[in-house]
Amino acid sequence: MSEVDTTNVAEEKTPVIEPTSELPPTSTEVSVSNDEKYEFFKVIQDYLDQAAKVVDLPEHVRDMLAQPKNEIIVHFPVAMDNGKMKMFKGYRIQHNNLLGPYKGGLRFHRTASLDDFKALATMMTWKCALMQIPFGGAKGGVKVDVSKLSDAELMRITRRFTHALGNNIGPEYDIPAPDVGTNAQIMVWIMDTFMNQVDHTQKNAQRGVVTGKSLTCGGSQGREKATAQGVVHCITEWAKDNRFDLEGKTAIIQGFGNVGSFTALLLSRLGVSTIATGDHTGYMRTSEGFNAHKLADHVKKNGSIKGYVGGESISREEFFSTKADIFIPAAIENQIGEVEAQLLDVALIAEGANGPCNPAGERILAERGIPVIPDVLANSGGVTVSYYEWVQNLRSENWPLEKVDARLETKMKDAYRRVSFFAQEHGVSLRIAAYGLALEALKTAYAERGIFP
Ligand code: GLU
Repeated sequence: MSEVDTTNVAEEKTPVIEPTSELPPTSTEVSVSNDEKYEFFKVIQDYLDQAAKVVDLPEHVRDMLAQPKNEIIVHFPVAMDNGKMKMFKGYRIQHNNLLGPYKGGLRFHRTASLDDFKALATMMTWKCALMQIPFGGAKGGVKVDVSKLSDAELMRITRRFTHALGNNIGPEYDIPAPDVGTNAQIMVWIMDTFMNQVDHTQKNAQRGVVTGKSLTCGGSQGREKATAQGVVHCITEWAKDNRFDLEGKTAIIQGFGNVGSFTALLLSRLGVSTIATGDHTGYMRTSEGFNAHKLADHVKKNGSIKGYVGGESISREEFFSTKADIFIPAAIENQIGEVEAQLLDVALIAEGANGPCNPAGERILAERGIPVIPDVLANSGGVTVSYYEWVQNLRSENWPLEKVDARLETKMKDAYRRVSFFAQEHGVSLRIAAYGLALEALKTAYAERGIFP
């Protein structure tokens, strides 16, 4: 098994969650309370409609943004290690490219569905528009359980999927990145496959076909921790606004993949200790706080937090009831419903995952006065540094970490300020404010460009 994050896997029948991907091999599923089929795309469309009213979005623009532009589904064969051939289903949903090339992650997950990809692709459009980076939104992936694959099978699936996508991706057209179940190695395989499909004189111009690559193959300094870094910048800004001294405070983190583990690490540098966490193998608590380095190493080696000696085992209910200052969901969608929202005993929620709060949960959190820094803002550090990687590839440059970090910090803080101001000005939640700002940018661009022909 290669270094693939299997942390965010959710089972349909026996719901489970895993920490947000982009990190090495982890296998972190956590039981979920909501059994019925979750209509993720519909939830995202509802947010669009709420925000559309706030910014007075013309109906035709709302209609264009309510559906993805392209829904690409491919079926492709792969030779498995046992000598048999197996068919796989791959997706690439391209929501919008008004502001720049389609952009967004690839998720390798056994429950991958068209509905989820439509929701996630749409959110990428909002993220990029909000962050003022010249990209549109997309998402895709393959329906597969990566924990059951050998390295060689994973590579063949990746390469064959890339081949099946053909010129539906490209450095000036649609640029994938890591997401749940994928990582830098997979991005490098995609890049290599894509480069080998073009004329040899054009090979090097294709490096930017994916972001989140390894440093040796054209990745950027700071990309690996970027999503978590962005989450932490948002928390820091919120703390400043609320005169909340972070030193000595506590956090609980659901999921310990890329986002969860780097968030724990970066928070510990600010004096915030992570006192509870969990993945598909269960939840754990320690009043002294986890050693983020050690736990991350354990997850890298073992694929999950299971067997880590630095904490006591607790139930999912106990996890959500743990009194702490900050809760960071860093797993998958639909984790905080009514039950969890009632249980939570925190002052702030910062969404490292995409769509972790469902609308019923969010309503209760609002009633209880628990602020939520929404996903499209909180976890946008990942795609922001993806943009820096893409720019470096275009210019054949290699920026030092300090430059990437400084630019990300400025971007995150500016976005946080704008969202916070918009929310106050319009009397809406931070989520609707983030959507509102994204829609304002798209509304202006559509008004200026008009509709072809
Ligand atoms: N998968 C990440 C996200 O959900 C990163 C996407 C990217 O870098 O393009 O934002």
